[in-house]
Amino acid sequence: MAGLTLTSFGGAGTVTGSKHLLQSPAQTLMVDCGLFQGIKNLREANWRPLPIPGDRVDAVVLTHAHLDHTGYLPRLVRDGFSGAVHCTPATRAVAEIILRDSAHLQERDADFVNRKKATRHSPALPLYDDGDVTRALARFEVHPPHTPFSPLPGVEATFRSAGHILGAATVTVDWHGRTVAFTGDLGRYDDPLMFDPEPIERADVLVTESTYGDRLRNATPAIEALERVVTEGIARGGTVLIPAFAVGRTQLILYHLWQLRRAGRIPRVPIFVDSPMAINAGELLRDFPDDHRLDPALTDEMFAVAKYTRDPAESKEISADRSPKIVLSASGMATGGRILHHLAAFASDPRTTIVLAGYQSVGTRGRSLADGARFLKLYGEWVPVNAHVEDLHMFSAHADGDELIRWMSGFTRPPEHGFVVHGEPQAAESLRLRMRREFGWDATVSVPNRVYSIGG
Ligand SMILES: [Zn+2]
Repeated sequence: MAGLTLTSFGGAGTVTGSKHLLQSPAQTLMVDCGLFQGIKNLREANWRPLPIPGDRVDAVVLTHAHLDHTGYLPRLVRDGFSGAVHCTPATRAVAEIILRDSAHLQERDADFVNRKKATRHSPALPLYDDGDVTRALARFEVHPPHTPFSPLPGVEATFRSAGHILGAATVTVDWHGRTVAFTGDLGRYDDPLMFDPEPIERADVLVTESTYGDRLRNATPAIEALERVVTEGIARGGTVLIPAFAVGRTQLILYHLWQLRRAGRIPRVPIFVDSPMAINAGELLRDFPDDHRLDPALTDEMFAVAKYTRDPAESKEISADRSPKIVLSASGMATGGRILHHLAAFASDPRTTIVLAGYQSVGTRGRSLADGARFLKLYGEWVPVNAHVEDLHMFSAHADGDELIRWMSGFTRPPEHGFVVHGEPQAAESLRLRMRREFGWDATVSVPNRVYSIGG
């Protein structure tokens, strides 16, 4: 096939596993290299070989560091990828934290299976290990936003701020006379920590996320919703448990708790950040002061609102303590991490409040809680859920339907064609319909693994 083609392996029909291939007859560029997360058959997809071998991918461009956009990279390297990985400086720093944690979880899970099933003849293997992460990180090349770079001969690419998490960017790729724009994950407007997503003025082809394509921002401001659930939860004499994505959400919630505490709007109970990864991610706000809105002078004051626990023994002490408190812990969808032992300790207590503060993928414990599950499987046991569950999805780091449309209105010349990715089917289809209705744009909801010709 002459010209350029676009193929999405993951992040099409689902929100995880984003991997988009841009190919000319001679070269292959991968945009994002994410891991599938969530239900078992989706996670198992990480073990299926890619339709293209690692050594046939010539370069990778990353929009941001979240695991569902970077988590397959160490595996790609293990499978023979030897090109460069391009991203913004902050994305590299965040990706190092996320990928090292991911390797640790992969190694621990394989170890757990081996001990439990004692499969001496066919031991479970990790998808990758820390050595693969080190080899992947050695391939990184960083480029600040607005600085064009050349990921492959004859190809020029540029990052712009996407506002989603620290370092997150959209990317435009100029190749064969065509401009292809990828939103990556778009953030929200007027976020207190992240800058607004920057518009792109022109592209021939737009590849857009659609996580919340069918949802609108709740009219209640996030800070007021948090004030209510914390005040009510503490008044019941219980623990307010917040499963929070270590990177981004934890810092945003901390910001709001700090504001509420300063204004005397919430009771003075202890606040714990019980996630080593969240602590490390928070420190990056100091390392990259130009990549977010928080005044450096106020960063220390904000962080001082909470107590930080790295030691697992201290973490266990928090769940043994029954007095009212607020606990932020990862992972954000309760798929793993320290939040699990806090849920095991507190979910059955009717005084507990569980606050969901971001997108919850199908098949995760977070999604079960959002859907009203009365029992949660934790460490092989069914634990009754008597806690109050509050779904504050206005804390999501994703643009909602109106914000996606607002961002698209920044094009001064409309794209010839759009591809809608990174959404569950209904969200993707509803964004596609809005693009047609509001702008008259032609768009396709990408089918995984289908090769689309995009001209050039
Ligand atoms: Zn993301």
